[in-house]
Amino acid sequence: MSTLRLEIVTPERKVYEKDVNMVVVKGVGGELGILPHHIPLVTPLKVAPVKAKIGNTNEFIAVHGGFMEVRKDKVVILAEAAELGTDIDVSRARLAKERAERRLAQKQADINAQRAELALARAISRIETAGGE
Ligand code: ATP
Repeated sequence: MSTLRLEIVTPERKVYEKDVNMVVVKGVGGELGILPHHIPLVTPLKVAPVKAKIGNTNEFIAVHGGFMEVRKDKVVILAEAAELGTDIDVSRARLAKERAERRLAQKQADINAQRAELALARAISRIETAGGE
């Protein structure tokens, strides 16, 4: 089965680098499945788990926004923050989710509500990624 190289990079470190058979991401326009020899593409990503298919196994990485660049046989994802499912502290994510939900319940339509929405999206994505859903 042919492969493509997937790299996920944050300002701090390279989170992931592997040869994979398929990459599935949530772009701003919807879900995208990238196979080897995909046409070149650049798209912003939503806060969501990225799925890397290797043979019959799936690996999940929580990617918090950023961009994906598809080149010949290489996919590079640049994100503010990203974590492997195995590195996620689920209780921390649950606490972050509760904090964000409390802030949103105050229904302030201001910058803090936007921040809380994003924090909530990150926490939900981390919980999903850690569970491998
Ligand atoms: P929190 O409120 O728990 O700090 P956050 O969404 O505000 O969550 P970020 O600003 O997205 O956190 O991330 C800060 C740093 O902490 C990043 O390096 C990120 O990878 C890491 N991080 C955040 N939450 C978790 C988690 N639940 N498990 C592992 N690493 C995490």
